[in-house]
Amino acid sequence: MKKVLITGAAGFLGSHLCDRFIKEGFHVIGMDNLITGTLKNIEHLFPLEQFEFYHHDVTKFVHIPGKLHYILHFASPASPIDYLKIPIETLKVGSLGTLNLLGVAKEKKARILVASTSEVYGDPLVHPQNEDYFGNVSPIGPRGVYDEAKRFMESITMAYHRFHNVDTRIVRIFNTYGSRMRLNDGRVVPAFMGQALRGEDLTVFGDGSQTRSFCYIDDQVEGIYRLLMSDYTNPINIGNPHETTILEFAQEIIRLTGTDQKIIYKPLPKDDPTQRQPDITRAKEILGWEPKVGRAEGLKKVFNYFKSLTPEELHDKEH
Ligand code: NAD
Ligand code: UDP
Repeated sequence: MKKVLITGAAGFLGSHLCDRFIKEGFHVIGMDNLITGTLKNIEHLFPLEQFEFYHHDVTKFVHIPGKLHYILHFASPASPIDYLKIPIETLKVGSLGTLNLLGVAKEKKARILVASTSEVYGDPLVHPQNEDYFGNVSPIGPRGVYDEAKRFMESITMAYHRFHNVDTRIVRIFNTYGSRMRLNDGRVVPAFMGQALRGEDLTVFGDGSQTRSFCYIDDQVEGIYRLLMSDYTNPINIGNPHETTILEFAQEIIRLTGTDQKIIYKPLPKDDPTQRQPDITRAKEILGWEPKVGRAEGLKKVFNYFKSLTPEELHDKEH
């Protein structure tokens, strides 16, 4: 049985990846320090012999006994609220954490895929963003702790590939949504849905003219799986190119949830990118991948998930 190590396993993306690799017949080692994730996301896997969990911080020395075939490095705070609250941990997991996992990949001769992000393009001056664009990131701005950690992650991954022959993959993930997102992690999908369910007004930052393109979790996992199994070593964008302004998105959520709440405006956070849309030509050509789930369908599924939370979970500001 092939063995895969998934870091960030108790988080949103990591837990869905654990499910997918279990389904594909892998032995899965999930690793997480639970700084933004929760065991609830993977508790259904604990009874399985195919699954092991290591409660471990990947910025500390990582040791995995025995053979290992694949590593997916997804550990990192991922929402602006989280990485602004824990900026040093964010820099460390992207830099020291990635270094440690590349070391494990080298030692075990395992293939490693690292989770990069559309944030490497910063506030992009090229639209839509293709993989050849170098980006427009402020290294000293508040978001720099995340963006630069991910840019370093890409650099060190390519260095291990070129100088140590490590078998590497880099995915640049664009805004992805789905079940198991934390209701209060500040990202716009759980934020709006939580507000609609609690009967609060929806908070649009700035005038809402900034754009994002939202990808459903199942499409994202399929793209990541295909990239890992491909032989392509340069970065690939995985995201849904269907772009919307945040104001239109808030109106869409109001229609979907049937709430009669209003939209209120709050200041735009510093360095919030004004536009974002993936160019997925490369993913189409190399992986034969494109998203299948439209926003209306995906949002309906996620709304049903948030509706199934208990009133305590819905009102727990820490969750
Ligand atoms: P998440 O916060 O739900 O999950 C991240 C997980 O990593 C959490 O369980 C957290 O406890 C764990 N973690 C953080 N630091 C760690 C450390 N030092 N050691 C061990 N575990 C640690 O976030 P997510 O949305 O699932 O994001 C997962 C990955 O995907 C991140 O690397 C993120 O940068 C990347 N990504 C996500 C998106 C998205 O839209 N969801 C977009 C771009 C990139
Ligand atoms: N946003 C918003 N209201 C909220 C949360 C977010 O208007 O309550 C905006 C945010 O300013 C950004 C967009 O929604 O322009 C997406 O934010 P998110 O944090 O989900 O992702 P990112 O900015 O990292 O793409």
